[in-house]
Amino acid sequence: MGLLFDDFKSWKQYCLAHNLSLATPVLQYEIEQKGRTEQEIWTGLQMAYTVMKDAVHTGLTEDTTSRSGMIDNGGKKVYRHAINVLSPEFKKLIARALAAKEVNSCMGRIVAAPTAGASGIMPGILVTLQEQHDISDAQMLEAMLVSAGIALIIERNASIAGAVGGCQAETGTAAAMGAGAIVYALNGTIDQVFNAVAITIQCMLGLVCDPVAGLVEVPCVVRNASASAIAYSSAQIALANVNAVIPVDECIIAMGEIGQAMEERYKETALGGLAMTPTGQQIAKKVLISDIDILEQ
Ligand code: SF4
Repeated sequence: MGLLFDDFKSWKQYCLAHNLSLATPVLQYEIEQKGRTEQEIWTGLQMAYTVMKDAVHTGLTEDTTSRSGMIDNGGKKVYRHAINVLSPEFKKLIARALAAKEVNSCMGRIVAAPTAGASGIMPGILVTLQEQHDISDAQMLEAMLVSAGIALIIERNASIAGAVGGCQAETGTAAAMGAGAIVYALNGTIDQVFNAVAITIQCMLGLVCDPVAGLVEVPCVVRNASASAIAYSSAQIALANVNAVIPVDECIIAMGEIGQAMEERYKETALGGLAMTPTGQQIAKKVLISDIDILEQ
């Protein structure tokens, strides 16, 4: 029986005891728990990565205006804008995360990694990382396996759903998955990978889920961009061996505790935060009226 991904500590111990990379126990888990062959898993990962790349491409080349009008081609606007605040790579990261998430807001095809609300983060990170460092697809797929292991542990000990743990659970988990994947793909040590996850979680703790009009658009799309940036900065910090101080498992416990204490109005109910601002409520009314008009036609 392989590892069950109860916590990061046992993942590390298992890898050290069996002289394995972080990705191998995740592969074993998928084979044992889901009854899939190794080839099926690699094929599935390749397909998922292709969908992620396609979502980035679609978001950067096709119209991404959402039905509510709140989302309006933000990825393309950032990608093409003449004034650069960020380095070219950083700007691409942000534009790609926005673009892929906008495809989701426009009902396009995405990979929910770990959820649809956070579906721009992993594509933005993986596509940018691969381009920056000329990493092979095979290495990227291994990094995606490590991301899956990270998500398994967070799901088990906290949550990956905004309705349960707030946005920290959704975009926070995706950012942690991305940070771990970056460090792994750049040949970081186990401690560096886990440190990147810990630092990311520390930066995302407490973020509430407050989608305007209950649509996964505002602030979701821009949070995909900021979460990608946090993943990148955390990976950079961890690779430089800056210690997160609070061990990763304890960071996840803190995330779970904060999620439990969070009021219901901050858990995807659209009853608090940005959703309850005057503008947020006006938009919700308009969305409701247009939905009723469509139903009556
Ligand atoms: S605000 Fe809520 S719905 Fe939007 S991305 Fe965050 S968790 Fe998901």
